[in-house]
Amino acid sequence: RKSLTIGLIPADGIGREVIPAAKQAILALGSDLPKTEFVELLAGFEYFKRTGTALPDETVEILKYDCDCALFGAVSSPSKKVVGYSSPIVALRKELDLYANIRPVISVRGNEKPSVDLVVVRENTECLYIKQEELTVGPNGKEARATRLITERASRRIGQIAFELASKRPRKHLTVIHKSNVLSVTDGLFRETVRAVPLLPEVNGRYNDVTVMEQLVDSAVYRLFREPQIFDVMVAPNLYGDIISDAAAALVGSLGLVPSINAGDDFVMGEPVHGSAPDIAGQSIANPLASIRSAALMLRHLGYTKGADRLDIAVDQVIREGQVLTPDLGGKSKTEEVVEAVLKKI
Ligand code: NAD
Ligand code: MN
Repeated sequence: RKSLTIGLIPADGIGREVIPAAKQAILALGSDLPKTEFVELLAGFEYFKRTGTALPDETVEILKYDCDCALFGAVSSPSKKVVGYSSPIVALRKELDLYANIRPVISVRGNEKPSVDLVVVRENTECLYIKQEELTVGPNGKEARATRLITERASRRIGQIAFELASKRPRKHLTVIHKSNVLSVTDGLFRETVRAVPLLPEVNGRYNDVTVMEQLVDSAVYRLFREPQIFDVMVAPNLYGDIISDAAAALVGSLGLVPSINAGDDFVMGEPVHGSAPDIAGQSIANPLASIRSAALMLRHLGYTKGADRLDIAVDQVIREGQVLTPDLGGKSKTEEVVEAVLKKI
């Protein structure tokens, strides 16, 4: 690439505070990246309230045709149904076919050996997130139903991503998360399809040294809290992957530390795992490190290893030194001060 065009979609709440931080960090990489341009794009609940649409076509078009990659902040999706509104992040994952949500969770505080070093690989396009819900009235009053879709294709491709990732990590271990003891049809398909990935002809024995374990989702969360070190790569259907990654974030100190990428075959979008955090939005105390790390993951995915390393090392140093941290990590610093500290290390 001679140049790099990065779409920025801060969206709502602290997304607007942490995405500019990631932009500054990327800019600080200078010549480690090709000539870099940013395009600010609109989406979100605030935008919906102003315009009646949460994800303008223009945003999708520009991402598809003009951008090499993107960074998404967070949306404030309301818990009560709002007519005409639908979450733009869920839509973007589908529109751009970003089928793998990859979420590394690593503890770095202090100099101790990381006790948590795992990656959640979350299927990103189906499960309950297809949002096929219906409300009817029956003898028991209102009856609400949701369709949970699990397909062989999506399970296979997320399984391939998970095995590939596991095969490249030192421990080469994969845990398949499901609830097939109850949901034997849907989760059964997920489990069987993922487990069959090493047997695909094109795999050609490449995953023979990956050890595979499975764990029911509830006990997986239990074991995550008791003995997180047993996990290396965890692959899960959409909803379980969402929940497990927030739980894992608690183990390493804060949601404000955990990055992700939404990856497809031809596009990648970095996104912190956290939401729009309305409880702290507008106070300039949001932790920007998850977003900076998401930028690093995105750059690494595109092959800019040196730039990605510089961002990760800078973030790790700031956390280890422990002098400049936001309140979620027990510090007193503002977002901007943490960004400054990271920029100095870069
Ligand atoms: P949340 O992740 O926004 O916040 C959970 C808790 O973590 C809050 O106490 C918050 O203050 C804290 N936190 C999160 N990120 C932080 C950061 N960077 N620095 C410091 N503290 C941080 O989850 P929620 O409260 O359940 O959801 C709030 C809104 O965000 C909802 O409208 C939800 O729909 C939305 N959401 C969006 C996404 C997304 O855009 N991908 C993901 C999750 C939630
Ligand atoms: Mn989530």
